[in-house]
Amino acid sequence: MSRSVLLVEDDRALRNSLREALSVEGYDLKTAASLADARAQLRNLPMGKTIDLVVLDLGLPDGEGQSLLAELRQSGHTPVIVISAREAEGQKIQLLDQGADDYLVKPFGIGELLARMRVALRHRGHNIEPAVLHYCHGALEVDLKARKVQLSKVEVHLTPTEYALMARLVRQAGQVVTHRQLLADVWGAEHVDQTHYLRLYMGQLRAKLEVNSADPQHLLTEPGVGYRLAESDATD
Ligand code: CA
Repeated sequence: MSRSVLLVEDDRALRNSLREALSVEGYDLKTAASLADARAQLRNLPMGKTIDLVVLDLGLPDGEGQSLLAELRQSGHTPVIVISAREAEGQKIQLLDQGADDYLVKPFGIGELLARMRVALRHRGHNIEPAVLHYCHGALEVDLKARKVQLSKVEVHLTPTEYALMARLVRQAGQVVTHRQLLADVWGAEHVDQTHYLRLYMGQLRAKLEVNSADPQHLLTEPGVGYRLAESDATD
């Protein structure tokens, strides 16, 4: 089934190159060069048609992409991937907190955009199904149902806090989870500023689960934003 994607981007050259890449991948791509154009396309979808994912630029000729993100979050669950030349980490965090699924800084590789689109689409499927209970990536396996973490089939003992952090990342594997989200969910809302807890516990998790904790393969850092557990190998 072909997935329909709305690309909101005023840079014609980027629109054209993404159009080509996405159609090769089998996506049904619609494009809009402004917020007004995007809103009109979303409003005037043919009966029974939906947009499965929105790729959204921030700087648009008639305003900021954030306003469309807010409208999409109010009206439903369409995943949104923000693409922007702006690298300020504060803004990344804000957009993720506002409900963007992911954030790519321009220039980005098409392969990376495609991979993150697959994750976002898969995740929306998961959101209406039971939560992810099983994760595996290379030698690492996490079974949330059995509360078991294994490395090369050997059980690894985690402390309750380490396990809670791991489980939180597993539930959103492949996606970045911000420092604030992790702190709020694992330690509680009153601890959202204690980023040193995270540094400490991520260090412990990496020491137990990574071959080389200086070059992690599973527990990835998104500098200044949060952490991302590498996408699960499991096909489902
Ligand atoms: Ca732009």
